[in-house]
Amino acid sequence: MTGKTILILGGGLGGITAAGALRRLCGSEHRIVVIERNAKFSLCMANLWLMTGERQRPEEGERDLTQLAERGIEWLHAEIEAIDPVTRTVRTSIGAVAGDYLVIALGAERHPEAVPGFAAAALDLYDLAGAVRIREALETFSGGRIVVLVARTPFSCPSAPYEAAFLVESLLRRRGLRAQSEIAVYTPEDLPMPVAGKEVGKELLRMLKDRGVEFHAEQIVMKIDAATRTARFELEDTKFDLLIGVPAHRAPAALRAAKLTDASGWVPVDATSLRTRHAGVYAIGDATSIRLPVGMFLPKAGVFADEQARVVAANIAAEIGGRAAAGRFDGHGFCYIEIGDDMAAYGAGNFYGIPAPTVSLEPPSARFRKEKLEIERAAQSLWL
Ligand SMILES: Cc1cc2nc3c(=O)[nH]c(=O)nc-3n(C[C@H](O)[C@H](O)[C@H](O)COP(=O)(O)OP(=O)(O)OC[C@H]3O[C@@H](n4cnc5c(N)ncnc54)[C@H](O)[C@@H]3O)c2cc1C
Repeated sequence: MTGKTILILGGGLGGITAAGALRRLCGSEHRIVVIERNAKFSLCMANLWLMTGERQRPEEGERDLTQLAERGIEWLHAEIEAIDPVTRTVRTSIGAVAGDYLVIALGAERHPEAVPGFAAAALDLYDLAGAVRIREALETFSGGRIVVLVARTPFSCPSAPYEAAFLVESLLRRRGLRAQSEIAVYTPEDLPMPVAGKEVGKELLRMLKDRGVEFHAEQIVMKIDAATRTARFELEDTKFDLLIGVPAHRAPAALRAAKLTDASGWVPVDATSLRTRHAGVYAIGDATSIRLPVGMFLPKAGVFADEQARVVAANIAAEIGGRAAAGRFDGHGFCYIEIGDDMAAYGAGNFYGIPAPTVSLEPPSARFRKEKLEIERAAQSLWL
């Protein structure tokens, strides 16, 4: 059998999972090539711990992509500039490369400029340096109004802004600053984590209310004024002393330029096989759009990127080996929602449920928090 080349575009969670699974499943005559601009791999979930100070060093949990070579995976340290999905050719900052298969795992690009004033006024929870800046701001915070702002939907990890609000609440309480502080979430959503259904949303709302965290639904921020510390929405304005922001997201430029995106702004894929409309080209994770029977889109979350990567890897390996592709992504997912005090709630279910996702929320416990920490450790050992 002649060797095939599988190009994996993006070495984040989905890309690294796909590369590892393909390496296990395909013989050494086949090349597995990851194209990634960053030299390190880390999980964004650690941003929350950097924010609270539970994790001090951003480097903790990082993995060096040079380690991929030890596993027989090639890494091109390069910027992807253009993609031709028909010829499966990728132009990068260090030259062009062609593959028999492409696995697009480029994630979502943060787009703070979508909201005037966001970059100047907000501390970005979704950026490693931003999470550290939030921690520094919290260290000197002596009371006032903290706003957690979701700029636009969709955004990665639907629970993260709520976890940020819960964790800040817990932190201020422990520091004796809760009485002189207000915490508010502003979001375009009508409920927290709306795709998980009304029951989960209402339960999260209750948990926010129990802790005195304000929830301002259906708020689309138009502009933020850093000088007067005011966020202006379509319907109301709010003042803040500290603004923790989730920036707008969009598909990476190379995907938009290649016209791989559709009206949703993201790469449409078959819901179970993750195939795009181009032969031999798959897309997984945050870069994709999968419309659910309920009319909303599958949330952008690592748990889905991970499972989709395994399905695509199994199907490419089967095709290369002359077997029928049997892997199917079935829309099941879970998440741990940190609420502070070393506790987390647990949501899980079938997002492909008909007519609507069937997701349930288990009450917070120390066990769930521990499981979340273990998941990060397990993800780091994707390499081994
Ligand atoms: C604060 C926070 C907490 C989170 N917590 C959780 C959680 O608890 N559970 C969960 O399931 N999910 C969580 N997530 C979401 C999770 O991180 C993402 O859903 C997941 O990383 C998506 O994987 P991906 O492979 O699609 O994209 P990514 O992991 O973002 O990887 C994309 C990769 O592509 C690279 N890339 C992009 N463009 C180019 C280019 N032009 N050239 C070269 N390389 C490029 C990027 O550098 C990046 O490494 C969290 C996210 C955040 C921000």
